[in-house]
Amino acid sequence: MSGPLLPLLTALIRHDGPIGVDRFMALALGHPIYGYYTTRDPLGAAGDFTTAPEISQMFGEMIGLWAAEVHASLGAPDPLVLVELGPGRGTLLVDTLRAARAAPAFRAALRVHLVETSPILRARQAQTLEAAGIVPHWHDRLETVPSGPAIVLANEFFDALPVRQFVRATRGWHERLVGLDEAGRLAFGLAPEPDAALVLEGPPGALLEFGFEGQALMGSLARRLVQQGGVALVVDYGYRAPRFGASLQAVSRHATASPLEAPGEADLTAHVDFAGLRRAAEREGAHVLGPVEQGIFLAALGIAARAEALSRARPDQADMVAAALLRLTGPDPQMGTLFKALAVTAPGVPPPPGF
Ligand code: SAH
Repeated sequence: MSGPLLPLLTALIRHDGPIGVDRFMALALGHPIYGYYTTRDPLGAAGDFTTAPEISQMFGEMIGLWAAEVHASLGAPDPLVLVELGPGRGTLLVDTLRAARAAPAFRAALRVHLVETSPILRARQAQTLEAAGIVPHWHDRLETVPSGPAIVLANEFFDALPVRQFVRATRGWHERLVGLDEAGRLAFGLAPEPDAALVLEGPPGALLEFGFEGQALMGSLARRLVQQGGVALVVDYGYRAPRFGASLQAVSRHATASPLEAPGEADLTAHVDFAGLRRAAEREGAHVLGPVEQGIFLAALGIAARAEALSRARPDQADMVAAALLRLTGPDPQMGTLFKALAVTAPGVPPPPGF
C-alpha cells in the first residue's frame, strides 16, 4: 500500500544518509505535497481512526461547558481568543460552541483561531464552522495567533508531533535512525556515536522516546498564557511518568501497523509524555493541573447526566448514546483511562472544572 512518498524518502536517505525518527515522522505526516495529513481527511468510521469528538457530541458539549466556566473564572475577558490546535473536522468546536449557547457573554466574546497545517482539513473545518455560523482564522503555528487572554484546546494533537528515539548500548544512548537495508527498504538503525547530551542510566537495549517538539510547543503555549492570561486544555493518550519503550505506531483502517510500512499512507502517532509537557509548561512559570483520566474528567463535568438527557429526548438512540458514553469513559480498551486531560493556566487562575 505504499504511495508516492516512499520513493522520495528512499532517495532522500540515499543522498543524505539515515534520518532521525522525528524527521521521518514529520515528513510522513506533514510533507507539503505527499504527507498523510496533507493529502486526506483521515477521521471517522470510513477513515483510518476516530476521535472523541467524532464518537459523540457529548465530548465537545462537556468541553463547551468547561470553557464557558473557565471564561467566567478569568473575569469574563472580551475579546477572548479561543484557539484550537489541530481541529480535525471542526466537530469539537461546533459542539463546544453549541453547548456554550447557555453562556451568551462567552459566545459574544469569542474570536476563533485555528492552528492547522492540512489544507484538506482546513477546508473541512471551514465547511463545518460556516454551517454553525462561525468565522474562524487559520494559522500554521501558534505564534501568529493574536495576543490576549485565551482558552486553548488540543484534542489528539500532541500525539501527532514528531518524537526522537534513543537506544542504550555499552557506550551510551544512540539515536535511532531510519535508513535503508540491503534490499533498499526502509529500516531502523542506530547512529554510530552515542549522544553526548544524554547521560541517563538504562539497561542495554532500552529505548527512550522524547517528544522534544511537543515540549517546545508546550513551552511557547505556556509562555503565552503566563504573559497574556488564559487556560489550555490538552486531551490525549499517553503516560504519566517517563518509561522505557517505543510507542510510535502507524494506524491505518483502525488497525496498527509498522511505522515504516507505508509512510504518507498511514497515520503515525506516539503516546504523549505528560510529565515532559508538565515540565515544559512549569519552566515558563505556568501552573499545571493533572493529568486526570478522561473518564474521571468527563464524569466530573457531568457527562452521565448529559447522556441521560439525550437518551430521554431520543429513546431510539439510547443504545448509541450508552455505547458512546462507555467508549469515552470506560477503562481499557475504551478511552477513559488511556486518554488523559491536562490543564495549563496562568498563575493565579482558579483550578478549571474537573481538576
Ligand atoms: N482534534 C481533532 C483532530 C485530531 S487529528 C479531533 O479530535 O478529532 C490531528 C490534527 O492535528 C489534524 O487536524 C491535523 O491536520 C493536525 N496537525 C497535525 N500536525 C500538525 C502540526 N504540526 N501543526 C498543526 N496541525 C497539525
